[in-house]
Amino acid sequence: MHKVEKLPQVDGELGWLETAPESNVRLGARVKGDQEFDIAIIGAGFTGLSVALRFAEINPSARIAVVDALRVGEGSSGRNAGFLIDLPHNVDFSKTGVEHARSEHRLNMFGIERLRGFKDRYSIPFWNDAGKFMAAHEQSNLKGLDNFASMLQQAGFEYELVSGSDLNRRLGTDYYRSAVYTRGNVLVNPAALVRGLVKALPASVSLFESSPVQAIEYGPPHKLQFLGGSISAPIVVQATNSYSEQFGKLTHRIAPIFTYASLTQPLSDDQIRRYFGGVKPWGLTSAHQAGTTVRFTDDRRIFIRNTYDILSDLKATREKLELAWHQHRLSFEARFPFVKEMTFEYTWGGVFALTLNHEPIFKNAGEGVYVLGGCNGVGVVKGTYLGYYMADYISGIDSENLRFVQQHSNPSWIPPEPLLSIGGKHRLTRELGTAKGDV
Ligand SMILES: Cc1cc2nc3c(=O)[nH]c(=O)nc-3n(C[C@H](O)[C@H](O)[C@H](O)COP(=O)(O)OP(=O)(O)OC[C@H]3O[C@@H](n4cnc5c(N)ncnc54)[C@H](O)[C@@H]3O)c2cc1C
Repeated sequence: MHKVEKLPQVDGELGWLETAPESNVRLGARVKGDQEFDIAIIGAGFTGLSVALRFAEINPSARIAVVDALRVGEGSSGRNAGFLIDLPHNVDFSKTGVEHARSEHRLNMFGIERLRGFKDRYSIPFWNDAGKFMAAHEQSNLKGLDNFASMLQQAGFEYELVSGSDLNRRLGTDYYRSAVYTRGNVLVNPAALVRGLVKALPASVSLFESSPVQAIEYGPPHKLQFLGGSISAPIVVQATNSYSEQFGKLTHRIAPIFTYASLTQPLSDDQIRRYFGGVKPWGLTSAHQAGTTVRFTDDRRIFIRNTYDILSDLKATREKLELAWHQHRLSFEARFPFVKEMTFEYTWGGVFALTLNHEPIFKNAGEGVYVLGGCNGVGVVKGTYLGYYMADYISGIDSENLRFVQQHSNPSWIPPEPLLSIGGKHRLTRELGTAKGDV
C-alpha cells in the first residue's frame, strides 16, 4: 500500500473561481463505498479532464472515473493566469532547433483548437482571442525581448514590435518601454474554462470532487483509497502535475514552484472613461523570467501575478500570501498609479511543476499505470494535448503528434530535498535581483 503524504488545499481567495458563473454548484459527489471502473483518472484539471474526454470518445462503453481532492476549478487549473499560449514558451532554438519549435507550435494550436471546440459547443464564457504582449520596463531587460523577437523571426512566426505612445494607448499605462505582440494567444478565466469542460463529459464518465486519494494499493486491479470509499480499476492515470511524485511511480523529476496572483475589484465606468478609453482586454508576460504577468480582463479587473516560492509541503501559509499581496500592491501601483485606490478583491497562491530541461512527463509506469505532468507553467494547453495523446496511447492509436510527445518527454534528474529547496531559493533570489522594475 503506497500512502499519499502531501495533499492539495485551497491557498487563499480563488478569484477566477469566485467570478466564474455558477461557481457554487457542486459538479461531482465524494467517493463513498467501494466502486469499480475500467479506468480511474486522478486529477480533474485540464490534463485529467482531457484524458477523460478523449478516452470516452475512443472507448464509448468504458466506465471512467475522474477524481479530485478539491472541487473542479479550485486546483491550479483554475488558479493560473489564463493564457492559452500558442508559441513555444522559453524559446531557445540554440538547444532545440527551429523544427522542434514548429512542432510545439502545431501541438499548442491543436490544444487551443480542442478547447475552442468545447468553448463553442458549451458556451463557456470569458474566452478572448486577444493575443499576448511580452514587455519590458527596464532598459536592461530589453535584451529578453530582442532574443524573443529574433527567435520568432528565425522560425517564421509573426510578431509586431510595439513601443512608445502606441503601446501606451493599447495598454492604458506608459510603464513599459517596449513589447513584442503575438496574435495567437487566447485569454480566459481558467476556472470558468475548466469547469465548462465538465459539461462535455459523457454519461460514461463519473466525476468525483473533494475526494483526495489517500493511498494506492497497486495491482492490477489498482485500488485507490478514500475516506469511506475506494475505486478499483485495471488502468490508473495520474494527472496531478505538481503532486505526481506523491504516488510512488515518479521520483526526482519535478520541482513544484509556488506563485501568487491577485485580482482587483472591477474598474468603474468613470475610471474606464478617464483612463482606459478605447483599451481592449489584454494580457502581458514579462521579458524577464522573474517578472510580473499582468492582465486587463474582460470584466474590467486588473490581474497581477508574480513572486516564486519553493514550499516543500506544497501548501501556502497566510504569511506567504501576505508577502505576495504586498509585492502585488507595489507592482500594481507602479503600473497604474492613477487608480491606486483600487483594492484587490482576491489574492491566492498556486503551484506549477517545473522540470529542469522543460520536457514534460508522459510515462508508462507499467501494469496499467500512467503518469502525466511537468507542464512548466504552460499546462492549460500542454495538459490538454498531453491528456489527449495519453488517451490515444493507452488505446493504441498512433500519430505523428503522439510520437513527438513520446520523444520529447524525458525530464532530467532533479536533486532531492533539501538540496532542491536550497538550490532553487538561491536561483530565485538571483533572478529577482536582475528583474528589478519588471517585477
Ligand atoms: C498563478 C499561476 C499562474 C499560471 N499561469 C499559467 C498560464 O497563464 N497559462 C498556463 O498554461 N499555465 C499557467 N500556469 C500553470 C498551470 O496552472 C498548470 O500547468 C496547469 O494547471 C496544469 O494542469 P494539470 O491538470 O496538469 O494540473 P493541475 O491543474 O494541478 O490539476 C491536478 C489536480 O490533481 C489534484 N490532486 C492532487 N493530488 C491529489 C490526490 N491525492 N487525490 C486527488 N486529486 C489530487 C489537484 O487537486 C488538482 O486539481 C500557472 C500556474 C499558477 C499557479
